[in-house]
Amino acid sequence: MSRRVLAAIPRKGTDIDHLAQKLVKHYQPEVLRGDKAFDIEEFFEFDLENICGVKTDYRELPPGIYGVTDSERKECIISAELMARPRESDKYFARSTIAHEAYHAMVHIAEFRKKRAVLKSINDNKHPALCLYRQEDVPVYMNPEWQAFRFGGALLMPEVPFKNAIRSGAGIRELVDLFQVNPANVRSRAKALKVYVK
Ligand SMILES: [Zn+2]
Repeated sequence: MSRRVLAAIPRKGTDIDHLAQKLVKHYQPEVLRGDKAFDIEEFFEFDLENICGVKTDYRELPPGIYGVTDSERKECIISAELMARPRESDKYFARSTIAHEAYHAMVHIAEFRKKRAVLKSINDNKHPALCLYRQEDVPVYMNPEWQAFRFGGALLMPEVPFKNAIRSGAGIRELVDLFQVNPANVRSRAKALKVYVK
């Protein structure tokens, strides 16, 4: 029932933000100007494998599983069924799922392979809870789930355009539209950056 979280190399939120910003600047710099949302599908389909050698694909996965990143097979799979859902909130959920898995693919696969540990991240309904699961054993900054959630937020809502939008008066709804993420993602990003959103 409960799934244990393997500890990862400790990482600071600001360092994770910095990596995300570097990637946005390199691959889609217009996002930093606040002109458009990060195209995570383009990044997943065309750039991610070049960066880390992990194969990416959309496939049918068992019901309730949205993504799987596997260090042994060196692959990162997103549910084709999730991608086909028409609702806006599902599209936004798919975007944050891909961004989250991208961090496991880019950073954790190499790390866990090096220490000969197996990372098999299964992104299902219980996945968000892993972010805080067993904090007593794994401090939050060493929790690979916390790291991947922080990165997902940073890639889709880079600090500069996020703060600029808030300064210009954007509230939750406007930030949702601008960054194409769900309200919960906006709230946790604001918390991570210690800014207030109305
Ligand atoms: Zn994960």
